[in-house]
Amino acid sequence: MDGLYHDCAAICGHDGYPDLFIIFTCNSKWPEIKRLLDPLHLKLVHRPDIVCRMFKMNLDMLIKDLKKERFFGKVVADVHTINFQKRSLPHAHILIFWDSLSNFSDPKDIDKVICAEIPNQFEHPELYKAVKKFMLYGPCSSANIFSPCMKEGRCSKFYPKSFADLTTIDVEMYLIYRRRKTGCYAEKGNVAKIIAMLFLTILLC
Ligand SMILES: [Zn+2]
Repeated sequence: MDGLYHDCAAICGHDGYPDLFIIFTCNSKWPEIKRLLDPLHLKLVHRPDIVCRMFKMNLDMLIKDLKKERFFGKVVADVHTINFQKRSLPHAHILIFWDSLSNFSDPKDIDKVICAEIPNQFEHPELYKAVKKFMLYGPCSSANIFSPCMKEGRCSKFYPKSFADLTTIDVEMYLIYRRRKTGCYAEKGNVAKIIAMLFLTILLC
């Protein structure tokens, strides 16, 4: 662990701050998992070997795509950890470092690869469905005061976020993503979310 940590620190020292932070989660609806478990009436906990294998294969594919296909830029380094929790499925935290030519020089460049707005369900029905199903956070705050993220009467993750016309970087170098009032909304847990909750969509070109 010590060695791996020092390797990561050395990568940061050499290549600077990472450019993308991606959380990649295992999905119980992946056809390969469903195909095996459903006919036998098994649950995910009964076959952690299959779940972990599928997760690792898809994770490797994603990293390979990001590096080989260069969707967003030339990757010079990447690191990831895989988290296993007592409950829920494995997920990976991935850091991607680009070469200096691919770096974001302007907050507007960020909008080309990251979107924190709910897509238009008529223009992009498939994307809308996926975002609604997998990417929405909450509900919490006044809509659900018993959400596990609630600490001292407010969401510890600072949701819901405010609307913003532009992507900006604040004084502490914290990113505020563009969340325009487009009128697109999605309902989750009987709560209509008009863009306010954070969700990230990587737009693959
Ligand atoms: Zn919350």
